[in-house]
Amino acid sequence: MDQASMAGTNVFSTNQPSLSVITVINNLTFVETSRDDIDSQALWPKQIIYQDEMLIVFNDIRPAAPHHFLIVPKEHISDAKVLVPSQKPLVEHMISTAHKMLTDNLGSTDNARLGFHWPPFHTVSHLHLHAIAPATDMGFMSKMMFKENSWWFVSPDYVLTRLSAEEAPSQ
Ligand SMILES: [Zn+2]
Repeated sequence: MDQASMAGTNVFSTNQPSLSVITVINNLTFVETSRDDIDSQALWPKQIIYQDEMLIVFNDIRPAAPHHFLIVPKEHISDAKVLVPSQKPLVEHMISTAHKMLTDNLGSTDNARLGFHWPPFHTVSHLHLHAIAPATDMGFMSKMMFKENSWWFVSPDYVLTRLSAEEAPSQ
């Protein structure tokens, strides 16, 4: 990918069926940080701290607290609002992976902030779960940006409940 297309930051606006993991990482880290320096993009694979067939996990390049994981599906899904009931297992896997990252690194999931951006208040059109801890270490701006169940940031439970409601037969 050349500099010009990176600068466009709109790689995810088209509905591509699959995107390479590296493109996902580059765009998340690049867009979310407004980072000018993209020369080091070859370094991003080293930042992958966990991956399996469904998702990758890496550290947010601009952490809101000492631990700040991004859990990202390999499949392209633009945001949490477009999720459908058949994708509930993926969402559950993202959440359990977030819990595992927190438990492995902090010993528990207490005092963590987990959530998804909610459209139209998202900067990157590729689904990702934020897992931030300790939540009490978050600064004022981070607390606003990742404010639980606000118009712009929703909890995993909110997303799961919504998917379960869609799944239920209509009365
Ligand atoms: Zn984000």
